[in-house]
Amino acid sequence: LPRMQRSLPQQRRIPNVNKVIAVSSAKGGVGKSTIAANLATSFARQGLRSGILDTDIFGPSIPTLFNLSGEPRLSAANQLLPLSNYGVKTMSMGYLVGEDAPVVWRGLMVMKALQQLLHEVEWGGLDVLVLDLPPGTGDTQLTITQQIKLDGAIVISTPQDIALRDAMKGVNMFRKVTVPVLGMVQNMSVFVCPHCSQRTHIFGFDGVIKKCQEHRIELLGDIPLDAKICDDADNGMPTVVADPNSERAKAFHHLAKNI
Ligand code: ADP
Repeated sequence: LPRMQRSLPQQRRIPNVNKVIAVSSAKGGVGKSTIAANLATSFARQGLRSGILDTDIFGPSIPTLFNLSGEPRLSAANQLLPLSNYGVKTMSMGYLVGEDAPVVWRGLMVMKALQQLLHEVEWGGLDVLVLDLPPGTGDTQLTITQQIKLDGAIVISTPQDIALRDAMKGVNMFRKVTVPVLGMVQNMSVFVCPHCSQRTHIFGFDGVIKKCQEHRIELLGDIPLDAKICDDADNGMPTVVADPNSERAKAFHHLAKNI
């Protein structure tokens, strides 16, 4: 049998947005949203018109991370208007639904909601939009990467083998849909005890670095495991806003400069 020719459906640009950078991870809980939020805020601090789009339908965390809530207003053209804080325009499924509504959604409803987030937001002119993808490499991620013209993708992982094994699936997904992989970010590589200053590598220390070398992928950043990063998130403030001159904030700024 002749091989089927696979062609990509039309990838559309998000109107009035210069660059779209996707932040992804293979697993949940590796710090994807935390890094996406700090990245968008760091871009804003560099003077860029920055936004973040939270496409995690089932576990949106951008509203919490930016201390925002409430329903978005509609523009004259019936488009969703972003909610802003810390100089960043944000849009999230979390603004559109009640606390636990989407858990029972069927695939079709998820896709409909996703279409609205991707195509019906009036960003009003952005230099950069950070796209916080849901974890994994399933249907939702594929739909987004096929529909939206992405300028680049970043894959976040902890150095642990079990996370890394799947992280490469993410890299391969982007390559398949011809999205440039800008690089990987290692998160939670070292824990410095605030009491005795001892350094502990809870998830290993160089798993992502090795993977990058092996597959010729850029290592964009290395963020330590720091209880204060957790506190910042719980306080509704990205670290680069909460304590801009701290070492942990510098790690995020360094990452933003690498992109
Ligand atoms: P994901 O988006 O990958 O599911 P999150 O960004 O929600 O992950 O992070 C998961 C949890 O880990 C959150 O409680 C967050 O505050 C915390 N966290 C993320 N990165 C760090 C870090 N470098 N140090 C300490 N806590 C972190």
